[in-house]
Amino acid sequence: MIVKGITLDFFRNYTNLEADFAPGVNVIYGENAQGKTNLLEAIAYLSAARSHRARYDRELISFGVDHGFVQTEILSRNREFTLEARLSRNGRRQLFSNGVKLKTAGELAGILNTVLFCPEDLSLVRAGAVERRRFLDDVICQLRPRYAAALAEYKRLYEHKTRILKDWEEKPSLLDTLDEFSLRMAQTGAILIHYRAHFVRKLKEYAPAIHRDFSGGRENLGLFYETVKTVKDPQAPPRDILPQLLAHQESHRRAELESRQCLSGPHKDDLVVELDGTPAKTYASQGQTRTAALSLKLACREIFQADTGEWPVLLLDDVLSELDERRQAFVLGRINGGQVFITTCDHGDFSPAARVFRIHGGRIVE
Ligand code: ATP
Ligand code: MG
Repeated sequence: MIVKGITLDFFRNYTNLEADFAPGVNVIYGENAQGKTNLLEAIAYLSAARSHRARYDRELISFGVDHGFVQTEILSRNREFTLEARLSRNGRRQLFSNGVKLKTAGELAGILNTVLFCPEDLSLVRAGAVERRRFLDDVICQLRPRYAAALAEYKRLYEHKTRILKDWEEKPSLLDTLDEFSLRMAQTGAILIHYRAHFVRKLKEYAPAIHRDFSGGRENLGLFYETVKTVKDPQAPPRDILPQLLAHQESHRRAELESRQCLSGPHKDDLVVELDGTPAKTYASQGQTRTAALSLKLACREIFQADTGEWPVLLLDDVLSELDERRQAFVLGRINGGQVFITTCDHGDFSPAARVFRIHGGRIVE
């Protein structure tokens, strides 16, 4: 997959930008706060209509205006696609593929796949389960439209059930609908668990090998999918998982009412990362953390390739500067196919094959 070009209007600090990219390596170079990350964010946004750092779409729209626009020209599966997002501060965002309005973000799956690696990804290993769930969700949403739809539905049900649990004492009539929401959450949750388990299985095929190469054969990366305790085989079809989720909900019904929180379901899942048998979250050094996070990301790149037959677009935000030379060489050597965008502040030696864009104040100046 190749991003041939992009047009931005009122996206972050870009008032208007039009750029054509190289099919190989693109270096986005400039001082701090000029718009390098914003540009990668715009490219990534059209792969699943999600931003890695914005909580709300309105954050993506330039200060002081009401609408923003992102359009990319993509070459994917030997076809050309024009993907468009129209963002609105007050209304809903609208997505288009080749001029046709999309009903859900899930319909973007498989057109443009991106793998982004940024300094914040260290929290993938270090921080709580939220980051790791988000990582799983981001990747699987890009691959499977059914997962994206189930995830959106699950979030909606979760919020609704949470409101019921918060307010039921003041308004007992709310309890009439509680079982209905619990059932639907379990049905949708079973789909999430099934897809997550299969994805983690693939991750286990790719990531440990990359990590071993990366660490010079010294370290072993272990990955384990942790979900609702009663689920015996998370890879089983959703219909087999459903009764096990219902049993867990039932045994937590009282606790949920008392604590006024949703305690049962895959919104508590985790992807446990271990190094040589000890939890990376607690014991990994900085270098090990970085290596593990990068191995997970590069594994995703290979999973996308195996799944779709095409390399996803790799977006490396500010990461090479943090790696020592051996690791830099490893990363660049590992990416021997597909399109890459690399941001950097250093005026280092760029490969002559790379196309270099200098960004200043939301504009390309060279
Ligand atoms: P660094 O090297 O420090 O990572 P960068 O070039 O990656 O810098 P960006 O993160 O892309 O910088 O941000 C550039 C600028 O965009 C920031 O100064 C920020 O204040 C501005 N910015 C962010 N969101 C908006 C917005 N919605 N409207 C206008 N400007 C914004
Ligand atoms: Mg940046």
